[in-house]
Amino acid sequence: MGTQLFGTNGVRGIINREMTSELALKISQTVGTVLEGEEVAVGRDCRMGGEMLQHAVTSGLLSTGKSVVDVGFVPTPALQFIIPKLGCTGGIMITASHNPPEFSGIKVMGSNGVEISRALEKKMERVYFEEAFEIADWTEIGSIRMYDTTIENYLQAIKTHVDVDTIKERQLKVVIDGANSVGSLATPILLRQLGCRVISLNAQMDGMFPGRDPEPIPENLEMLAQAVKAVGADFGVAHDGDADRATFVDEKGNILWGDQSFAIMASYILEEYENPTLVTPVSSGRLIEDVAHKAGATIDWTVVGSVDVSHRMLEINAEMGGEENGGVFYPAHQAVRDGAMTVAKMAEIISVENKTLSELVADLPQYNSVKISVDIPDDKKLDILDPLLELTEDQERITIDGVKLIYNDGWVLMRPSGTEPIWRCFAESESEERANELAKNGKDMILKALTSLE
Ligand code: MG
Repeated sequence: MGTQLFGTNGVRGIINREMTSELALKISQTVGTVLEGEEVAVGRDCRMGGEMLQHAVTSGLLSTGKSVVDVGFVPTPALQFIIPKLGCTGGIMITASHNPPEFSGIKVMGSNGVEISRALEKKMERVYFEEAFEIADWTEIGSIRMYDTTIENYLQAIKTHVDVDTIKERQLKVVIDGANSVGSLATPILLRQLGCRVISLNAQMDGMFPGRDPEPIPENLEMLAQAVKAVGADFGVAHDGDADRATFVDEKGNILWGDQSFAIMASYILEEYENPTLVTPVSSGRLIEDVAHKAGATIDWTVVGSVDVSHRMLEINAEMGGEENGGVFYPAHQAVRDGAMTVAKMAEIISVENKTLSELVADLPQYNSVKISVDIPDDKKLDILDPLLELTEDQERITIDGVKLIYNDGWVLMRPSGTEPIWRCFAESESEERANELAKNGKDMILKALTSLE
């Protein structure tokens, strides 16, 4: 009998191979058993098999006596936004986020719209593997109702958190790449409502993802970068498959690194508050530290993972959160990664600061980062940590997730991959040479820790 069901962001697998209707049924019976309350909101992205999985999820929930609010095709953050508004006890999103087209998955949210905590995941895993489902009496089976104004309400709320008049005056031209998925249902409309001229790419919903792979990383965004230059847009933006992330392209066609757009947001948003706190995983670098300190903010480090960032933000009432992959959390709106909210804030920043996106990037300190990986057999992966902690005990370090060593002129983070038989080293410094050296030192330490196990 297994013990683990949930990964970094919910359950994922290849459609009809791992991510089957049977699995979806059992997960939703688990959710229906564990969550208190009456109604669960269910939404999905446009991936293949979504209809099949949604029916299975709905069926499972109804069988445990829960009723379902069917919100249809929505971005994940739109579902998350609407859960507390509808007074639901939780939500299920059928999506594999940025994974390749053959994947689908399930994200489970609590009554506040945030993905459930690691502790609640553990509880659900126990119910799932013991099949301890609480199946309702035949007189108590739940019912379904449709709710079709989720996106409208979600966009309305986003607009209350930006300076709409100033954005409208600027009349920005924006190219939006919706990844052939649910981002296309929200962000182009939002931008038009903000007075932007909008050019859409990959805007038709298609689970084959004919335009590009759903992950908004530079190798997938060449078409967007070219389109921005070709039409003379002020900026471009690309979502992932469920539109909780946004990657930006400046007016010259340069694709921003996630930590650059995060840093631009952080320096603007944190300035709005007195002594704010920024929550971010240990994988974030000096750039984020620099802008946070400049804004008088304290950094609160977490393990790598958006769910952990959300929960920590709520726990300490933080003003902002973010990840180096470009995920931005703005809890004045909601404490989750939110692609459309991020786009609206970026439009505000460009308009209010009256700068181009490339100028905003040029204002940031420059660092060089290096990522390398070290092959480690799966059965040794978790054993490396103890000797690595011993090897580094005299150094300045953060040990929340792997080991991050801090130097005057840079840092290196060593941590195991959640999915592959490797350890990763992220290093960063002002000089490229030093960043390479730090990454190599990290690799040597991992190998030394491995040798000490033999
Ligand atoms: Mg996503």
